[in-house]
Amino acid sequence: MTTTDIPAFPTGTILGYPRIGRRRELKKAIEAFWGGRIDAAELEAAAAGLRRATRQRLAGLGLGRRDSSIPESFSFYDQVLDAAVTVGAIPARFADLVDADGHLDLAGYFTLARGAGDNLPLEMTKWFDSNYHYLVPEIGPETRFHLASDRIVREFEEAVADGYLTRPVIVGPVTFLLLAKPSDGAPAGFHPLDRLADLLPVYQDLIERLAVAGAEWVQLDEPALVSESIDIPRERTLAAVAQAYAALGGLDTRPGLFVAAPYGSLDDALAVLATAPIEAIGLDLVRGTVPAAVPGLKDKTLVGGVIDGHNIWRGDLAAAFDHARRLETLSPNVAVSTSTSLVHLPHDVADETKLGPELAGWLAFADQKIGQVATLARGLATGRETIQAHLDAATASLASRRVSPGVRDGAVRSRLEILTPADFSRGDYESRVAAQAAVLDLPPLPTTTIGSFPQTGDIRRARARLVAGDLSPADYRDVMRAEIARVVQLQEDLGLDVLVHGEPERNDMVQYFAENLDGFAVTENGWVQSYGTRCTRPSILWGDVSRPRPITVEWSSYTQTLTEKPVKGMLTGPVTILAWSFVRDDQPLGETARQVALALRDEIGDLEAAGIRVVQVDEPALRELLPLKKKDHADYLDWSVGSFRLATAGVADQTQIHTHLCYSEFGVVIDAIRNLDADVTSIEAARSKMEVVTDIQASGFDHGIGPGVYDIHSPRVPGVPEITELLERALEAIPARQVWVNPDCGLKTRGYAETVDSLRNIVDATRAVRATLV
Ligand code: GLN
Ligand code: ZN
Repeated sequence: MTTTDIPAFPTGTILGYPRIGRRRELKKAIEAFWGGRIDAAELEAAAAGLRRATRQRLAGLGLGRRDSSIPESFSFYDQVLDAAVTVGAIPARFADLVDADGHLDLAGYFTLARGAGDNLPLEMTKWFDSNYHYLVPEIGPETRFHLASDRIVREFEEAVADGYLTRPVIVGPVTFLLLAKPSDGAPAGFHPLDRLADLLPVYQDLIERLAVAGAEWVQLDEPALVSESIDIPRERTLAAVAQAYAALGGLDTRPGLFVAAPYGSLDDALAVLATAPIEAIGLDLVRGTVPAAVPGLKDKTLVGGVIDGHNIWRGDLAAAFDHARRLETLSPNVAVSTSTSLVHLPHDVADETKLGPELAGWLAFADQKIGQVATLARGLATGRETIQAHLDAATASLASRRVSPGVRDGAVRSRLEILTPADFSRGDYESRVAAQAAVLDLPPLPTTTIGSFPQTGDIRRARARLVAGDLSPADYRDVMRAEIARVVQLQEDLGLDVLVHGEPERNDMVQYFAENLDGFAVTENGWVQSYGTRCTRPSILWGDVSRPRPITVEWSSYTQTLTEKPVKGMLTGPVTILAWSFVRDDQPLGETARQVALALRDEIGDLEAAGIRVVQVDEPALRELLPLKKKDHADYLDWSVGSFRLATAGVADQTQIHTHLCYSEFGVVIDAIRNLDADVTSIEAARSKMEVVTDIQASGFDHGIGPGVYDIHSPRVPGVPEITELLERALEAIPARQVWVNPDCGLKTRGYAETVDSLRNIVDATRAVRATLV
């Protein structure tokens, strides 16, 4: 098709749909393929069946069968991996997976994601500020770009054969290169974006093939344009956008180009897209606002992402409609959409039977969001009056939510109102050190673990039987106590210094607290893809949070009866609880975090009263929730650090507070970590070979610090010499009085054999290093 024949963009669409299946069918099929129970053809057939069911579902919910409003956003594992495989960006270490024509079969595709033998998989990292993880492409001067897979074209043709005209979705070329990292052999100073000119012909090739196949619109996702955490000068990014879309838009024969920019405002990239030869621009109007006019914008279709694709609330539909209407001042061609792909949401509120009608009525999962898009699109086409009843119903629902008793709990609110700065601050650190030394009596370089021990099949089965009613709560408690006693004995035998109970009673470190706090609800089928076939079921934080009764005290105090050594109480911090739940959108996050903090503060107080001398409050998500725009950092760091301090500042000097953070890019948050004022902070460091300790030293961090010496992401057992070397490296940078010795993270996902060997080596190495200290 030539650009003058491109049909109008559909009035309502979504940027993408969950791929794993409403009953996790794709997960099950892929895992059956990995387990050798089905072959590649059977997996392909299962995936095709799922795509077909999805198309039917989306059409049934109000998207058009033949107007390009249904996105073709399927992936077997990850959309960034798909882009890499499509353009032939296969790292050299996987060269033998590729056949003579440069193709990779399904098994090879999964090998890139999961590794094989000594060949490490592509690195995995977080997709913008969501909980989704993508695979990081590796690009170097040697990468030979070519159209290595026509899967995207075949999926479009499959839909055509089924009677649908869908809209293929691809990660855009600029985002693809900005999210990539230099390949192993790349020279210093190389950036994947250096290869843009070589990559663009492959995108051109693909887009032309889609045109030949009959596609009328293609969606190119460019979320990297909204992020300020990408380490490249902005002018370079903008020049790349101009270059890329001049090339793609300059094709004679092509579908309409829709460039979508979810997760934030485009800012100065909008002007570049507005003058590029593309037809439609997707704006996230949930995170961003309606922009000011820029030259060229009036000639584009503006696709207003007015329905929140990232959260589960039904929301203010009338306001969303007004947002879309305001776009009409910028261009006569306006459409509505979700702000992001719906991949972050569960499928359907109707699949939940236990939420109660009131809460269920406030929610919109992926399918309900599509209904909302369809309603707004109708309103744009036929006038507000035609959808007024829907807008009013949403407004009434929102009003009922505002006044619902659980949403606003007077007791919680008055407690927050009387907080003073003193509630956020512990005494002088040096006095704490002295008080703690007196009660804890620890050796230099104390050893500990991060909390969880391996979750065995027996533990999981006991929990499943408890949920099914086959095991009484009392019997379940006995099973867990026996497990705790075993884990304590093991730690005693190994000679660890600060012991843990092992967290056997927890299904998930956030869900466990959500189930035990007021203000949260838990779903039955609300699965969301985290990465690959891994799904999580986030809890819904819908109301004011309070703690009806102690949560962990019984477990921790039981554990303390089994040993003379200090037992570390184990809690999940406010920021992490928020980050891994669906959080209410009717008040600032900081306010919600302070409510969670007060509940944890009570829990810590009860642990202390029960004789627990060390309490760890995990905040692995502190870095992950950092906003994409720099202007929002200060506010975020203020409330996130504040909520941790509020949770932990109520204890006496002699009670030792630990925290745990799960990453090693300390850089941007180092000051925040210091401001947490935890007595001891454990961090991930083994994977980066202690690189992080130099940052710590440079920052003047003077509290206790446990850089991990055991990479728990791998079944490998680190030997004594290796651990000794890591410890020595840490001690070169940090005074011995500050150093703790621990693994990188919890041991939940490891097996027992490797765990025991690794911990034994940690203790042996520590003893040897201790002996060298004067
Ligand atoms: N205490 C938790 C555990 O050991 C911490 C997990 C995490 O950091 N993600 O499992
Ligand atoms: Zn961790």
